[in-house]
Amino acid sequence: MSSGKKTSLELFRLRKTLAMLASKEGRATELITLYVPPGKQISDAINMLRDEYGTASNIKSTTTRKNVQEAIVKVQQRLKLFKEPPENGLVIFCGAIPQNGAGSERMETYVIVPPEPIRIYLYRCDSRFHTEHLQEFLREKETFGILLIDASEATIATLQGRRLEIVRELTSGVPGKTRAGGQSARRYERLRDMRLQEYFTRVGQHANEIFLPIENLKGLIIAGPGPTKYDFEKGEHLNYLLKNKIIDTIDTAYVEEQGVKEVVDKAPEIMRKVRYIEEKQIMQQFLYEVGHDTGMITYGEAEVRSTLEAGAVRTLLISENIDLLRVTVKCSACGYQEQHSVKSQMLTSFEQGLAGKPCPKCQAPSLAIAEKQDIIDNLAQIAEYSNTDVEIISGETEEGQMLKNSFGGIAAILRFKMQG
Ligand SMILES: [Zn+2]
Repeated sequence: MSSGKKTSLELFRLRKTLAMLASKEGRATELITLYVPPGKQISDAINMLRDEYGTASNIKSTTTRKNVQEAIVKVQQRLKLFKEPPENGLVIFCGAIPQNGAGSERMETYVIVPPEPIRIYLYRCDSRFHTEHLQEFLREKETFGILLIDASEATIATLQGRRLEIVRELTSGVPGKTRAGGQSARRYERLRDMRLQEYFTRVGQHANEIFLPIENLKGLIIAGPGPTKYDFEKGEHLNYLLKNKIIDTIDTAYVEEQGVKEVVDKAPEIMRKVRYIEEKQIMQQFLYEVGHDTGMITYGEAEVRSTLEAGAVRTLLISENIDLLRVTVKCSACGYQEQHSVKSQMLTSFEQGLAGKPCPKCQAPSLAIAEKQDIIDNLAQIAEYSNTDVEIISGETEEGQMLKNSFGGIAAILRFKMQG
């Protein structure tokens, strides 16, 4: 997406793929990871692999040597399919993965085009795949504004993905709370308050100037030690557009760089909170339609599927914790096909039930599972045809649990009312 915002579906898919790759283990140091960033010559990578192939001939264990060299050749073959790396670069994982105990290794190869440009050129031969440089794409890349303030200083920073930039640091010039001898206490107090207001106005102006032009500013975090941040927030110092974007006000021990780091440490938590707020809003809209019987929603797998196929779904809501597979059963005698949705723990008994069962078309006992697909991928595929938004809803909110428990984990907000 051009905005750099990843949809909950893209994130879900990437998370699943990376979890699958990270769980693979080699029987020895023989799994290959290769990151090729955009701009790198494919021929350079191929040459580098040729050297690695040579080095691998020194490996003592015959099996390991054979597996490593075979994997290197496989990776070279995959690379040769590209004239140059794709826009975001290329990551290849390849190696002999034990399928079922020792001696059952099978060569597996995965080519991943990352959702954003990778910057690293890396070759690793290890007993696992190195997915960590892709893991960072699981973080949202939207920009957050950070404003730290106390009575003496203010710091304005932006956080985009993991990139933190301290944009401006201001000092208040506001004198301390205790006056020097000889001054009238009330006069001092009034003077101090005036200076403080001027300071707030100045900080507000800088913040407006920095944050307002940022496209897709996801939210603003106000922080700092003590109560000054609340006084600032209450006043009319920030543009109302920014005020509406305040997502959190948090306590830190410091105002300067150290304080910004304190905020960043809490950022994952804050971003999760932002996503939960989004999820809650989507679910509340759905529940509103349910409560008012508007006819603009549907739920349950079969109902949602047919509505989706009719192109009538605006937003598809799927619980992250749904545990269903879309299974294609095929008759090897006549080619007859049918599809079923099966809970994954029921798959074995479902498969056993097919044995000896006559095909509805040709009566031959030749039915078998031809394909299995995660229900989320399956529904998302249909959704793509009709330009439907797909929202993967976590189980972390009350609303998310309601989706799972009361609506079967699959629901839809419609574009138009379906004729009942
Ligand atoms: Zn048949």
